Amino acid sequence: MTMHFGEALASRALPLSSRLESYLAVTEFDRPTLVIDTNIVAQQYLALKAGLGSADIHYAVKANPEREVLSRLVELGSHFDAASRGEIELCLSLGARPEAISFGNTVKRASDIAFAHQVGITLFAADAEEEIEKIAHHAPGAQVYIRLLVTNSQADWPLSRKFGCDRDSAIALMGHAKMLGLDPVGISFHVGSQTRKSEMWGAVLDEMAGVWHDARALGHDLRLLNIGGGFPAFYGEAIEAPTAYAAGVMAQVRARFGAVERVMAEPGRGLVAESGVLACEVMLVSRKSSLDAHRWVYLDIGRFSGLAETEGEAIRYQLETARDGEAEGPCILAGPSCDSADVLYEKRPVHLPLTLAAGDRVLIRNAGAYTSSYSSVGFNGFPPLAVVAI
Ligand SMILES: *Cc1c(COP(=O)(O)O)cnc(C)c1O
Repeated sequence: MTMHFGEALASRALPLSSRLESYLAVTEFDRPTLVIDTNIVAQQYLALKAGLGSADIHYAVKANPEREVLSRLVELGSHFDAASRGEIELCLSLGARPEAISFGNTVKRASDIAFAHQVGITLFAADAEEEIEKIAHHAPGAQVYIRLLVTNSQADWPLSRKFGCDRDSAIALMGHAKMLGLDPVGISFHVGSQTRKSEMWGAVLDEMAGVWHDARALGHDLRLLNIGGGFPAFYGEAIEAPTAYAAGVMAQVRARFGAVERVMAEPGRGLVAESGVLACEVMLVSRKSSLDAHRWVYLDIGRFSGLAETEGEAIRYQLETARDGEAEGPCILAGPSCDSADVLYEKRPVHLPLTLAAGDRVLIRNAGAYTSSYSSVGFNGFPPLAVVAI
C-alpha cells in the first residue's frame, strides 16, 4: 500500500521520489551525504499552507539552512524564523524581505539585535526582563511577542524548561515592554518538536488561550499569535498528513482564540525532514562474543556527524538497505567515532538483514531536518555532513 500526501494518516514512509531514486542510483558517495529533493520541500510547504489558511509560515531556519531549501521557500512566499545574525544574513542574501523575518530566539546577542533593527527587522521574541531591555535599547519601538513556557507537551522531542516564562511573568513583561516604548503584540509557544497528532495540541492551546484572554482583559492589545513548530515527520509511528494536521491545529486555535489578526506558525521538521535521504555506509558488522544475539553495526555517520536526535533514542529513523526482504536479526547501531556516547540505538535494537556487511549502503529516510545543522565540524577527523540539493 502506498500513502500519498493529503491522506489523513501516514503509517509508512512514502517511496523515494523518482528524482532521489535516480540520483542515488547513479551516484557513488565517499562520505555520508544528505540528498535533498527541493520539490518535496515545496510540496510540504504547499500542503501545510493549505491547512494553515491565512496563517503565515515562518520556516525555522535551524532545521535545515541549506541555500537551495531557503531559496525555494523564498520563491513560494515563505517567511522565516531566524535565531542569530548569521541566519538573518543568510535569509536576506537569498532574497527574503526583512518584514518576513522574525528574530525568534529568546536569547539574543545585543549586537545582533542592533543589526536586525538596522536591516529592517521589526519582530522579536522575549521571555525575560533583561531581553526586553536589550530589545528596547537596540531596536527601539519594535514589536515583541512573549514566549510562554509549555508544561503539557506530548511531543517525542519536547523542548524542556529552557524557553518561555509563566503566565504572570508574561503579563508583567508586556507591561514592561510597553513602558520601554516597545509594542507587545502577542505571545508565542512551542508544543514540542514531533508532536505526532493535531489532537495532542489541545491541552497546550487551552493553557495558552487562558494567558491570551487574561492579558487582553488587562488591556494588552494582543494581535499576534505565534503557534511555533511541532509539525511532525514520518519516522515509523503514524502521523497525520500535513494538510489535515495543520487544519486540525487551526480549527483548535480558532475555537479558543477566535479571530486573531495575525497567526504565524514556525514549522521546521514538518517542512523539510521528508525531503532528505541520508546515504551512508556500513563500516563494520561484529559480535562481541560468539554467544551474542545482537550484532553491532557501525555506520560511517553517528551522533556527532548528523544524527544528534538519536539522543535518548528519541527520533528513530527508518533505515533501508539493498538487502531488505532477506532474513533479519537485531542489531545495536553505532556511529564511527571513538566516543562511547556515539551509539544510536541500543535500548531498542534495530532489525537489519543478516547478510549486511561492511561497504553496504544504508539509506536513512526522512533525515532532512536537524541533521546537517547538527553535524560537528570534524569530530575525530570525520568531515561535516555533506549535503546535495537536487
Ligand atoms: C526550532 C524551532 C521551531 C521549529 O520546530 P519544529 O518542531 O522543527 O517544527 C519553531 N520555532 C522555534 C522558536 C524554534 O526554536
